[in-house]
Amino acid sequence: MGQQMVSLRVVKHGTGIHLTYGDVDLAFDAGIRGTPTLLSHAHADHIGGLELANHVIATKGTRDTFLARGGRINARSSLIKFGETIGQVGVYITAMNAGHVLGSTMYKLEFEDEMTVLYTGDFNVVDSVVHNGAVPTDADVLIMEATYGTPRWKFPIRTKVHEQILDTARDLIEWGKIPLFQAYSLGKAQEAIALLRNAGITVISGNPAIDLVSDVYMAHGKNLDYISISSGDAKEALKAGCAIVSSSPKFTMSNIGKALGTSYRKDLTRRMERYNLSGWTLGEIKNSGFPLSAHTDFPNLVGFAEKVNPKIVYCFTSNAGELSGHLSKHGINAVPLE
Ligand SMILES: [Zn+2]
Repeated sequence: MGQQMVSLRVVKHGTGIHLTYGDVDLAFDAGIRGTPTLLSHAHADHIGGLELANHVIATKGTRDTFLARGGRINARSSLIKFGETIGQVGVYITAMNAGHVLGSTMYKLEFEDEMTVLYTGDFNVVDSVVHNGAVPTDADVLIMEATYGTPRWKFPIRTKVHEQILDTARDLIEWGKIPLFQAYSLGKAQEAIALLRNAGITVISGNPAIDLVSDVYMAHGKNLDYISISSGDAKEALKAGCAIVSSSPKFTMSNIGKALGTSYRKDLTRRMERYNLSGWTLGEIKNSGFPLSAHTDFPNLVGFAEKVNPKIVYCFTSNAGELSGHLSKHGINAVPLE
């Protein structure tokens, strides 16, 4: 492998990564003119320039979510399932669950000389209410995200965080208040809805952006029984006691004003208690709430890399430099992509 290893090129490109190896030319999570794109998931920071790609490969979960959020695919597009392998010129591509959001995918590449590459995209190794955790596989080269790649980011056990969220919601509702949980409209909002609903708490979705994505989750078999803020049932739910899941509290309040009237909005503002659902709540005072993350924390990033057992790791996203340093200390050869 040594001679050909030299010709592997992995560089940052826009919102993603550009990989070339011999005749194989692939993009991950970015569009490059004349190049196929392997799309890991539909978050906006991973789909830049997609209109340039000549071929977009994604799971149905990712493609449906991308389209529901207004994305367009002009190029040829192919669907791939978890566990499925498809052949391209000079490479076999296998899709694996990344545990981050609906359809989120890690891609394993196997080249003709048997060299293997694993690209994680954004990933989470811990099971959430609606996503199963990512499972590592061995590879010669690992390209991994490093969002929480410093030792200060160690998340508590997820089920404990779930319990805290539910305890808070139940207490507030009992006191006549309305808990509002702020979460990204793709992924975390759906986990919050499922968590609350499974515990018997009525949930209002505060933004159409959440409705759109939740409907895709439901079409993919996830049970998310929520009430849209713009539906006729919202007023009754707010009166009887419920939680709101919101991707943008400002727009949620404006939606409430439009649907139910300004005086109602003012009353609700007084009754509302806001919490963020985010890993960053662990470290940022202004970001108060519960550390529910769709990403892998530092100890699990290191553990994942150890299990993949690669010859080299390329780290991307914020904290790539820090994570590379720590992996190198653990005896894993790692470099940041910057
Ligand atoms: Zn993401």
